[in-house]
Amino acid sequence: MVQLQKPQWVYFAGKIRPWDEAVLHVSCEAVTRGLNVFEGLKGYWQEDGVNFGIVAMPRHFARLQRSARLLHIPCPVNYEQFEAACHDLIRALYEPSRDMWVRATLYVIEGHWGEGTVADLVLTAYHTPKTAPAPIDIGVSTWQRASDVTVPPRVKTSTNYQVARLARIEGRKRGYSEMILLNQWGRVAEGTGSCVMMVRDGKVVTPPASEGALESITTQIISDICESLGIEVIRRPIDRTELYIAEEICLAGTLAEIVPVQNIDDYALPAESPIFKKVSAKFWDVVRGVEKHPAVDLSMIDRAPQGLPDMGRVR
Ligand code: PMP
Repeated sequence: MVQLQKPQWVYFAGKIRPWDEAVLHVSCEAVTRGLNVFEGLKGYWQEDGVNFGIVAMPRHFARLQRSARLLHIPCPVNYEQFEAACHDLIRALYEPSRDMWVRATLYVIEGHWGEGTVADLVLTAYHTPKTAPAPIDIGVSTWQRASDVTVPPRVKTSTNYQVARLARIEGRKRGYSEMILLNQWGRVAEGTGSCVMMVRDGKVVTPPASEGALESITTQIISDICESLGIEVIRRPIDRTELYIAEEICLAGTLAEIVPVQNIDDYALPAESPIFKKVSAKFWDVVRGVEKHPAVDLSMIDRAPQGLPDMGRVR
């Protein structure tokens, strides 16, 4: 069985605390209604092996604020506090052999039906391998992405992942580690934790957010990289059957990174994936600081001495 990592430290109630101290009361809306908004941020060791950079932090914070605004959740921190908290936690946990993924969640800890709402910023961070993802087999789920008038996909809230979980359970039974969700019109929305990009006629195609995809930061990064490589990117709806005849498919997301798809619903894709291979190579160089690119900004962690975090700091 897959076990979630249990790192030593979390950021909770304004400071770095031991993992076991991060608990919510059973009566709060975060528990009773699954009320939260969150972000996943990825941090990479730079090629010098000394510096560590977190990708697109201002964009993640801006999306967290948009999600919070849509669900009437006041954001308790400003950008500087958010960045400092992420840095503190990573500095407490990072180790040279692995990169890190940070989950930043605003949990609603006080309030009722939208009155008196108070949220707390909670950060958990996990170690991730430094290796690039291997090609995978995927399927199209029978479950459907919610629409903008049900649970808006644009809002990054845990509630939106109920259907993703169902799709993953369905996928496991069919031998797939990841699944594609269609939208209410039967067209491609996204993966369970990533966006879908495909190549047709040598052009990269990905659905717009209005098709039921998250407003993805990674697809924006990939689009910008493509543009600099002279590869055209089109945002348009994608039919299910287009996936079966695509020249290339990849899944794109902060945690997923760029995952090549080799088979979908038992339709094998061409063995070579030249466009996404080229884009991936550039992506890795940019996130690891081998080269600079306007598509990616990195929030660099101060190289303060490692050791126990500052347990006394309360924000
Ligand atoms: N869709 C879903 C449902 C996701 O969870 C993610 C990961 N955040 C994405 C798409 C990709 O978004 P991003 O590139 O901003 O990580």
